[in-house]
Amino acid sequence: METSVSTRKQLYVDAAVDTPVSDRRRLLTYALPEHLAGRVAPRHLIWVPLRKELRLAIVVRVHDEAPAFPVRPVYAPVEPAFCLSERQWELVQWIAETTLCSLFEAASPCLPPGVGQRSVEHLRLRSPDGAGDHQLTRTQQALVDLLAERGETSLEAARKALGRSLTSVVAKLEAAGVIERTARVVSGAPRTPTARYVRLITPDGVDLHRAPAQRRALEVIRRRVALAGDEPIPWHDLVRRPGVTAAALQALAERGVIEILELPAPSAPPAQPRPGAGSTYLTPEQAAAWRTLLAALRAGEPEEFLLHGITGSGKTEIYLRAAAWCVGRGKQVIMLVPEIALAAQTVARFNERFPGQVAVLHSTLPPATRYHTWRAVAEGRIPIVVGPRSALFAPLERVGLVILDEEHEGAYKQDNPPRYHAREVARRLIRQHNAVLLLGSATPDVTTYYAAETGAIRLLELPTRVGPRVLGKRGRPEHRTLDLPEVQVVDMRLELSQGHTHIFSRPLQAALRRAVESGEQAILFLNRRGAATLIQCRACGHVEQCPFCDVPLVYHADQRLLLCHRCNQRQPPPSRCPACGSSAVGYYGTGTQRVEAEVRRLIPGARVLRWDQDALRRGVEHRHLMQRVLRHEVDVIVGTQMVAKGLDFPLVSTVGIINADTLLHLPDIRSAERTFQLLTQVAGRAGRRTPGARVIVQSYTPDHYAIDAASRHDYAAFYREEIAFRRKHGYPPFRRLIRFVYRHPDEVTCQTTAAEVADLLAATADRLGARDVDLLGPTPAFTAKVRGRYQWQILLRGADSHAVASAVDLDPGWAIDVDPLSVL
Ligand code: ADP
Ligand code: ZN
Ligand code: ZN
Repeated sequence: METSVSTRKQLYVDAAVDTPVSDRRRLLTYALPEHLAGRVAPRHLIWVPLRKELRLAIVVRVHDEAPAFPVRPVYAPVEPAFCLSERQWELVQWIAETTLCSLFEAASPCLPPGVGQRSVEHLRLRSPDGAGDHQLTRTQQALVDLLAERGETSLEAARKALGRSLTSVVAKLEAAGVIERTARVVSGAPRTPTARYVRLITPDGVDLHRAPAQRRALEVIRRRVALAGDEPIPWHDLVRRPGVTAAALQALAERGVIEILELPAPSAPPAQPRPGAGSTYLTPEQAAAWRTLLAALRAGEPEEFLLHGITGSGKTEIYLRAAAWCVGRGKQVIMLVPEIALAAQTVARFNERFPGQVAVLHSTLPPATRYHTWRAVAEGRIPIVVGPRSALFAPLERVGLVILDEEHEGAYKQDNPPRYHAREVARRLIRQHNAVLLLGSATPDVTTYYAAETGAIRLLELPTRVGPRVLGKRGRPEHRTLDLPEVQVVDMRLELSQGHTHIFSRPLQAALRRAVESGEQAILFLNRRGAATLIQCRACGHVEQCPFCDVPLVYHADQRLLLCHRCNQRQPPPSRCPACGSSAVGYYGTGTQRVEAEVRRLIPGARVLRWDQDALRRGVEHRHLMQRVLRHEVDVIVGTQMVAKGLDFPLVSTVGIINADTLLHLPDIRSAERTFQLLTQVAGRAGRRTPGARVIVQSYTPDHYAIDAASRHDYAAFYREEIAFRRKHGYPPFRRLIRFVYRHPDEVTCQTTAAEVADLLAATADRLGARDVDLLGPTPAFTAKVRGRYQWQILLRGADSHAVASAVDLDPGWAIDVDPLSVL
């Protein structure tokens, strides 16, 4: 028989560490201490030392190939232990490769809430009998005694208690295997919430003659025990009973008649799907969409759908029904919304339809709530997860359906690493789970619609609004459709030529007055993005373009220059319009405050609410503003982008868009698309319950296809023009884009670094023999300076751009955005 001599080989861990790296594939190697051997395996989350700190890391490989250089030991596994599932790991690797980020960055959205915050070192005994037969020094013994008495203790607390630095003591005891160290996250992994209970110990034999309150309380407890058995009784149930007081219960506990316990609070029991849920009659259009979707859900094959339905056409109703189908079959559902703060109404509808079965996951929840919700999801207790893009990474193992509501929204793309798009990740996810992907929008992303047109995605359409239900022939409910609001485009050039220079055109003034006088509400929408950089002729609508690139030139006030953000062409701003000679060449910088003041002047006594970044900065929350509107405490809402999003305000009959051009003439790949979407969304806020709603759009270029198509609610017309434009200019979906941005406080450094990297990219393309790739730039970014740092950018365009970008290692100061939504 062989004796097991200590021939065990030293093990090593290759880990993806939470630290910026220029080689994004780089892993760091650590030695695996013997006592951790069983607890550290691939896909586990651990703490490792890096320079003077502890960092989180994900184990990629455990092996016994001794590296040629000295390595430090793994510090400890994260507690509670966390391991990525195989599916998640596969997704993480895919995200790192496609979005060109490090493995740790790609994994970060999967980590449980709370980890990754500051960690504090803790000590504990490895065995309950302390040091065993080890010979200890006095200080070592003191530490062991302390840990035996207190259990796990922070290093800081142990130092205080013993008045020593303990550095060598801890190291020796750890080496001897007497104690172990762990890193605990400060505010993470919060305590399990507890609830107070009461349990009967001795029902008889106490004299409560002189204590009537206690006698009554005991009576109630006895009856309950007789009925329901010996289970602990929730405290709050007891104190709600007439005659039972908290004081009496305390006194009974002191007599030893009952005991008061703190037990883990019961989590909500998984509610059963209600058989009647979702039993609204569908409109014929909804029913047709539902039948197609149902067939795919039944088939259990990965399949993608675009649910193209105008605002108020009943898309959410379809989401609810599909979710109910999945939940009823033990599958899980991910419902994504662009922004959770604006999704209160959607969340409420899901909660109402699936009480106790909906988890809302997002970063603004208190850490403890987030962590517990996350755990409940991980344990399979809650089947529906609603949240922003990060909810895609919820720990789910039986996903049947992923929904992206308002799939065209820019919020689905993350703008720091990993720079993923929720739609692309969802696509990957449904393949892993054989699930269905449902993309919903009134104004689908042009690339999504193109995919539907070319057959990669199946198209479901809801072309009409759901109106009030009426009883039709034979007593069956029928739906009346509700018309979309009428949109009037006001040509601001005409207003000017007729001597009207007010920021509200005459039709808008009239519509506002009418709305307020008849007790309805109005929204005035103002786009602020880029407003001060647009130079437009107010007489003819002309916007100066780059002679080489056909994109609008951008005004840079600090240099008093017009600049092309594609080719860096610079020229002075014209003092007269080059097209018509008028001197009414203006910049647009009207703010919400100005609009608010004008409304008050125009309609004295009107109650005006400003819904913009300023209001939110003052600490007002979306839901407060929403409530004020719903309670009819306001007549006119003046707002920016936020009011365009999916809010449902029954009393809004009138919408005014102050200047539709500001967004349209940004030199971005999606300016026309964003304009069309925004106009359609804002217009969709009007007339959601009643007919006769009005939308007024003010523009100096009313003939532009984005404005014209939006005014006719004509997605198809917009799409035809836009897809032709994209094809002509080689923009997505026809050619791929990758954007590189560098920031530096010194402009010259910024510019020269950008030039060097452009050369590197060109050389790499040559070396790889990449054919389909163009290099655009370097140029200053649209926002030339951000918080004191200049920004320069480079674009790669073409099918081979990913291969080129993937082959270069750039300094971590570069931001790389694959398939950017914007190139501003
Ligand atoms: P969307 O999500 O497309 O904007 P919703 O699902 O919110 O549309 O529907 C708009 C309104 O019509 C909501 O008030 C919704 O309750 C109602 N609705 C939708 N479908 C039906 C239906 N089949 N029967 C009755 N009301 C419906
Ligand atoms: Zn002009
Ligand atoms: Zn140019």
